[in-house]
Amino acid sequence: MNSLVILLDLDGTLVERGRPVPGAAHAIMELRRAGHTVRVFTNTDSRGEAALVKQIRRMGIPVALGEVFTPVVAALRVLTLASRVLVLADRAVRDEFPAQSDNSRPTHVIVGDCRQTLSYPVLDAAFRAVRDGAELLALQGGRYFRAADGDHLDTGAIVAAIEYATGSKARLLGKPSPDFLRLAAGDVPADRLWVVGDDRTTDILMAHRGGATSVQVRTGKYLDQQAAEGLAEPTHVIDSIAGLPALVEAQAIR
Ligand SMILES: [Mg+2]
Repeated sequence: MNSLVILLDLDGTLVERGRPVPGAAHAIMELRRAGHTVRVFTNTDSRGEAALVKQIRRMGIPVALGEVFTPVVAALRVLTLASRVLVLADRAVRDEFPAQSDNSRPTHVIVGDCRQTLSYPVLDAAFRAVRDGAELLALQGGRYFRAADGDHLDTGAIVAAIEYATGSKARLLGKPSPDFLRLAAGDVPADRLWVVGDDRTTDILMAHRGGATSVQVRTGKYLDQQAAEGLAEPTHVIDSIAGLPALVEAQAIR
């Protein structure tokens, strides 16, 4: 078998509630040893790229700068020098974007994790900018996310509020957008592209849209979605990321 490009979801797949899933680091090293390219993708919209890589490495997952793809990376590629952005996000992510003067009329409204900074005036500014023609960019469309202290309302809910008030539709930059898959995978053909994740509404759906092979792990959100109907079906299901090298090798022998 030709070498693969394997995209691994972060939360619920490589790490869970702030700790590495057992065997995750070993699996990555084994896949690399077998000649495959491993990348990590995440809809994390609360950190810049460098800080995120550092955080992942601290959890023992061996990744380098340029190997982790987030919607913030995707957003920066959408913008041009002429873009003027209003960013609804916390400080760390806002700092990734060029600074704007307060009175410039935005061409884009970018919505990410804004738990620390969201207020009614900020929502109003976003609402007015989009109503006046700015493009609404959603770093991701998640309904909720899971943290060590429980489940939290996610970015998609804030995006939906602005969509509802303005009657416009956001452009989604994170998964399950197939553009995000392309950005992370580069120009590798779909038959050499694998996507591994715990969430059928994002990871597996994105793989379907991009024609990639998909693997769902039985960690993270797996149990939440077990009874759900009508969700994208993965090509393979494995207990955890630890089983991925064996699955990849078995497929190579077939
Ligand atoms: Mg996940």
